[in-house]
Order: sequence, then structure tokens, then C-alpha cells
Amino acid sequence: MEQLIEKIKNDGSVLSSSILKVDSFLNHQIDPDLMNEIGSEFARRFSGSGITKIVTIESSGIAPAVMAGLHLQVPVVFARKRKSLTLVNDLITASVYSFTKQESNEISVSSKFLSENDKVLIIDDFLANGQAALGLAEIVNKARASIAGFGIVIEKGFQDGGRLLREEGYRVESLAVIHSLKNGIVEFEITEEG
Ligand code: 5GP
Repeated sequence: MEQLIEKIKNDGSVLSSSILKVDSFLNHQIDPDLMNEIGSEFARRFSGSGITKIVTIESSGIAPAVMAGLHLQVPVVFARKRKSLTLVNDLITASVYSFTKQESNEISVSSKFLSENDKVLIIDDFLANGQAALGLAEIVNKARASIAGFGIVIEKGFQDGGRLLREEGYRVESLAVIHSLKNGIVEFEITEEG
């Protein structure tokens, strides 16, 4: 997605050879116009897939997921990383290991918001090693809902997540795929627009 790639080139910063910082438009401050375009692009790619619900993970997945939900006209559910006091019954959970934080977190969704009749689009801001995405897939599978695919804003193609998900047979649509962050330079992979 050209607009996103331009934004990453202009406003992203390379923290290390594996971490890209995009806190001026996605991870802290949010650019609503760009999010709207991102949501519209996910909706275009998954139109006709019979999506009934979007599932994401707090906090940075929420903005692109809500915009996709608006364009697809379906509700958006976000998995919580911490247990809420008001959210105690019938939780579906999965354990997610974060390589960036080097810790495991339990993520959860209330079973009230997912059913076996749902066809789910899973959205996240980044795809790195795929642990967050696989945790979300585990929750959707435990609810016996089906997975239409994954919508990823930024995939780091040099890490394993994309390969893991595609090997499991999932459809993965990434709006920007990064080939390398070496020497402080963001190199993109040339992708076919889905
Ligand atoms: P994974 O589970 O695929 O290894 O990592 C996905 C999660 O880690 C994303 O939801 C995102 O929050 C965070 N993450 C992974 N790599 C990066 C990165 O390069 N930059 C930022 N800002 N977040 C990242």
C-alpha cells in the first residue's frame, strides 16, 4: 500500500536491525486518515470473504481493526492482555510469548463475543515472529469460529511469523512488507497488491 510505505519512509525510525518505530502514526499518536485508508484496503482485500467479525489485540491493533470494521460493517473484538475486574466469566485464553519483551502474557476474549457461526478476520499492527497472531488464532479456534485470514499493517518479512502462518494454510494480507532494517535503512519487499 503506497501511502503506508511513504509514511513509513518519512516518519518511521529504525531502532535496531529488527525493530521499527512508528509511534508518530500507529503505535502512540495515530493518523486517522491513514487508518481510514488502511481499514478501507483491508475491507477491499477481504470483501466477499463473508467476514462477520474482526479480532485484534490491544492496544495498537485496535485503530486499524476499528477502521476495517467500519468499512466491512462488522463488530471488532480486541483481546485483552490484562484481566479486567469486570471481565470474569467464560474467558477464552491463549498464552503469547513476546520476543521484544521476553515474557509470556495470557490474552483473553469473552466467549460472549465469538461463536461457531463467526468468520473472523484477525488484524494486527505488526507481524514479527507470529506469536500474537497465533495466540489470536488459538482463541478463535477455541471458540470454534472460522478464520478467513490475517490483515497485517506491517509485516517484517525477515522474521518467521508470515512463513508460519502461511505454512498453516492461512491467508495473510500485509499492507507493507519489510525486507530488511539493516544499517538503519528500511527496505521493502515488492508485493502484489491482493
Ligand atoms: P510477534 O508476536 O509477531 O512476534 O510480534 C507482534 C507484536 O509485537 C505486535 O503486535 C507488535 O506490537 C510488536 N512488534 C513486533 N515487532 C515490532 C516492531 O518492529 N515495531 C513495533 N513498534 N512493534 C513490534
